[in-house]
Amino acid sequence: MKTIDIVVPCYNEEEVLETFYRETSRVLDSLDSYLFRFIFVDDGSSDQTAVIMKRLAREHDEVKYVSFSRNFGKEAAMYAGLRYSVGDYVIVMDADLQHPPAMIPDMLAGVAEGYDCCAARRVSREGESRIRSWFSRMYYKLSNQMTDVQMPQNAVDYRIMSRGMVEAILSMAEVERFSKGIFAWVGFETKWLPYENVERTMGTTKWSFWKLFKYALNGITSFSISPLRFVAGMGFLIFGFACLYIMVTLVQTLLFGIAVPGYVTTLCAVLFLGGIIELSVGILGEYIAHIYLEAKDRPVFIVRQTNLGNEEK
Ligand code: UDP
Ligand code: MG
Repeated sequence: MKTIDIVVPCYNEEEVLETFYRETSRVLDSLDSYLFRFIFVDDGSSDQTAVIMKRLAREHDEVKYVSFSRNFGKEAAMYAGLRYSVGDYVIVMDADLQHPPAMIPDMLAGVAEGYDCCAARRVSREGESRIRSWFSRMYYKLSNQMTDVQMPQNAVDYRIMSRGMVEAILSMAEVERFSKGIFAWVGFETKWLPYENVERTMGTTKWSFWKLFKYALNGITSFSISPLRFVAGMGFLIFGFACLYIMVTLVQTLLFGIAVPGYVTTLCAVLFLGGIIELSVGILGEYIAHIYLEAKDRPVFIVRQTNLGNEEK
């Protein structure tokens, strides 16, 4: 019998957690050729999430939980869930029921066909603001052009993965984790399952626009060095232009003597170069920040409590 671990990152999900467990279990009940286990990861929730988890764990043997010492973010929660997983396959899904549990049988069918991964892709973005969809579309375009990983747009973090793929993901040791990129980077053949966007009915989204922006930027700088090449290219271009300009000015001065006016040209050049330099330093800074954070090699998460014992690797 194949074993399946279901990893669920939860941050302040007291309103949905029980419903999530009930709904998902109902789907699993019809699948008796697999052995399921829940791994709930409490990402330092400040509400009753951890308490509910522990109660579920007491009442049901197949419920495991890992509780963090503080909020480390969804990436860390997913990573912890994968670390603690031992199943032949691992499902990652959100706790807010935006990832329909009814898709689990299809996902299992996908991996039974021989795929290493079967993932959900939203076909509609209903219930999402226009501007957010627009930013998302632009982001994927830009990111896919700049990086060598191709992230399908509208892919969500709802997927089933084989043990092999999970191990590959865990072998990527970066501290600053960007799962959408990591999933694409490790490769493996993925079967995509389309689904209609489901609005969150209980609880609230944990993402602000600013948080998303930082996350998106991190995604690009984690998987691409083309911004650095852009800086170098820019420098090269400006240098070429400057050489040309110097020669022209030199000839002009020799032939016609020194022309005094030139205030606007000077000011423009200074401001333009200043701007480019600031931009370049900013881009370099992003990469230095990555080096700094990775070099410190701090743990991705810290566990406060868990009912998972020696399975931990
Ligand atoms: N989440 C988490 N840590 C965080 C933020 C979110 O574990 O710091 C979890 C959250 O509990 C949910 C999932 O990540 O299960 C997705 O979060 P959310 O629904 O807020 O994101 P959205 O669906 O709006 O993208
Ligand atoms: Mg959600």
